[in-house]
Amino acid sequence: MRMHSDIITETDFHNAAKRAGVTIEHLSVHGSRTRARAFKFYLSGSGRNGGQWGAQDYQTATWDEWGIFLGHLFARDAFAHCGRNSYIGADDYHWQTGDRFHSLTPDEQCKRHKWESLMPYVHECSKCNAIRRWSVQPKVIVPSVQAKANAYRKLAGVGSEGIRDDAAAWAYEQMNLAS
Ligand SMILES: [Zn+2]
Repeated sequence: MRMHSDIITETDFHNAAKRAGVTIEHLSVHGSRTRARAFKFYLSGSGRNGGQWGAQDYQTATWDEWGIFLGHLFARDAFAHCGRNSYIGADDYHWQTGDRFHSLTPDEQCKRHKWESLMPYVHECSKCNAIRRWSVQPKVIVPSVQAKANAYRKLAGVGSEGIRDDAAAWAYEQMNLAS
């Protein structure tokens, strides 16, 4: 799994793991075209045996454990995203996961959801009423304030020191509206 963000730090990942009761099996930092950086990570938790990362076997994290973990990260940065084919921000995340992960705790989880089709692109767990949804529309990643500011600086050829993020982002919006 990958998450792109301007503000999330490794400390946030460790706090999210604590909250979800999972172990981070892998966490590395990479470049990102849309945000300041991308994190690549894998979790283990109280799910089935048979997850694999490299040569190591571990117990997978359950859907709810992943959900609590990501819910914490999206609470830290509503503009974080996991790529165009996944969660493109906090709103999208909570929409796709049926608002389950605003406050769920590990002891409230349903360890193995039994997904049944409720209507096209919507599944419901017959045990706990959890919902997951898919979008049929192509998704667009919304630039964060920082991403807009960086794009403006690049286009205008100004250094990062001379202009505040919010001012640069505003200038970027005006340029896009004018074009
Ligand atoms: Zn369930």
